Amino acid sequence: MDLTEFPRVHLAQLPTPLEPLKSLSRELDGPDIYVKRDDCTGLAGGGNKTRKLEFLVADAIRQGADTLVTVGATQSNHVRQSIAAAAKTGLRIEVLLEQRMLRDDDYAANGNVMLDHLMGGIVHHCGMVEDLNVAGEELASTLRVAGRQVYFIPAGGSSVVGTLGYSGCATEILAQADDMGLQIDTIVVASGSQGTQAGLLVGLANSNAAIPVHGISVGRTRDELESKVFALARDTAEFARVTAPINRETVICDDSVVGEGYGQPTDAMIEAVTLCARLEGLLLDPVYTGKAMSGLIAKIRAGLYKKGQSVVFVHTGGQPALHAYRTTFDGQ
Ligand SMILES: *Cc1c(COP(=O)(O)O)cnc(C)c1O
Repeated sequence: MDLTEFPRVHLAQLPTPLEPLKSLSRELDGPDIYVKRDDCTGLAGGGNKTRKLEFLVADAIRQGADTLVTVGATQSNHVRQSIAAAAKTGLRIEVLLEQRMLRDDDYAANGNVMLDHLMGGIVHHCGMVEDLNVAGEELASTLRVAGRQVYFIPAGGSSVVGTLGYSGCATEILAQADDMGLQIDTIVVASGSQGTQAGLLVGLANSNAAIPVHGISVGRTRDELESKVFALARDTAEFARVTAPINRETVICDDSVVGEGYGQPTDAMIEAVTLCARLEGLLLDPVYTGKAMSGLIAKIRAGLYKKGQSVVFVHTGGQPALHAYRTTFDGQ
């Protein structure tokens, strides 16, 4: 696989740092925890979608698009980063936000939503739909009829093109670990629309690195998520002509910290967010990284990751969503 074969626009500050979380590791008295700072990708608040958008926006421009269309939940970080990418590259963008739950004014209008408007995105809303990508394709069709050249980006940017961004991240992690003399035992990451976990698996396979990636589900059941991650990893490997096979056994997901559902706070998430804020000055988010960190903490407490081992937590961003969940952290 040679990522330089694919069109790419420069949006992210790379490489993002890989650094130890010494206080958190000491507090939990387990493995050495490192964080891959993809919250520091740099575009309008950062986050993991920026790596995907480097390839997606380039593909859109190559196809002659003048308009991007994408979709997400109300507080989508992907939508915020897509609007920022469109602003920076001079493309028009229309987005469809799905209201999956009613919370409060902060959830409806603060955090990512406030930034979506600030950066000039045209925002449409819908209630719960069967398939948000289908609803987004409908918006794209309407705009095409009106004469626009539309490039549709699926939820989370997790097409094979977007997923390339995370195979690049895997290569970056391996190079940094090498420089630091660090041997990584496990990588832990939040997994939603699967592109991040699938891309990491493709990049690791391409480098013949047998490091397991534990995807912490933020909504789906384990079986469903594993089969979707596997399918996307295989499709991406084929697209990028990676010859190393993607083995089903390397796709490992965990659905034990989802709680009541996507975007629904849990006590363990609140504990994880608070702990990282106070011990490391590290801001996680309520929907993805807070839950993923709660999964990592639970595994350490259960003795699954041990002293002497090294775990890399991929911080995929999402801090703007903290402002949408202000009341969740009242009294912390
Ligand atoms: C989208 C997102 C994820 C999940 O990444 P996927 O590629 O959709 O699985 C994790 N963390 C944050 C902060 C996100 O915005």
